[in-house]
Amino acid sequence: MTLQKKIVLSKNHIDILRNHAKQNKPNESCAILFGKSDSSQFLTSDVFLTKNSEPSPVNFTISNDDLIRAYEESEKRNLEVIGIFHSHPDSIAYPSSTDRQYMEVNPVPWIIYSNTKDEFRAYILESAIIPIDVTIL
Ligand SMILES: [Zn+2]
Repeated sequence: MTLQKKIVLSKNHIDILRNHAKQNKPNESCAILFGKSDSSQFLTSDVFLTKNSEPSPVNFTISNDDLIRAYEESEKRNLEVIGIFHSHPDSIAYPSSTDRQYMEVNPVPWIIYSNTKDEFRAYILESAIIPIDVTIL
């Protein structure tokens, strides 16, 4: 039995991510979330916008350069990488089969924004895809 966690973002983080998703339409957008986690929550303190290096409406790729910069930056700020964000321009905010494969190698919360529904959802992969609450402060 795992403890139900939640991910907490500020209204400002949400605005930044939503704008990023809108600007990248019709392609998917992506970002990395920095913050702190404990047994009950993932608390976002900053959003690190990344480029979808292979632009596609149904997929995203964060380049190794962006990934390295993100990890360096989070370390510098004494923060953890607590989440991976991407958008679904034309579908609901649920992980695709490709997302699921990458969730296996990136076992942090995945935050998905649906442009069509204008909503944020978060998931973590354990033995199955588990939804986690998105709290907006
Ligand atoms: Zn996806």
